[in-house]
Amino acid sequence: MILICPECKNEVNLSSYPNLDIGHIVECDVCGITLQVKSISEGKIEAEVVDEGK
Ligand SMILES: [Zn+2]
Repeated sequence: MILICPECKNEVNLSSYPNLDIGHIVECDVCGITLQVKSISEGKIEAEVVDEGK
């Protein structure tokens, strides 16, 4: 499955997250930002940036 990073617009390889589900935290391997999965459908994943200021 492929996620398009909302920050850098690159494709993120999620093969290292075999049990990916909504709410999981993933990391963009291009820009290094932390993302939370918002939806998964038909092999397409949407995620949003997690505020790292906490
Ligand atoms: Zn990115």
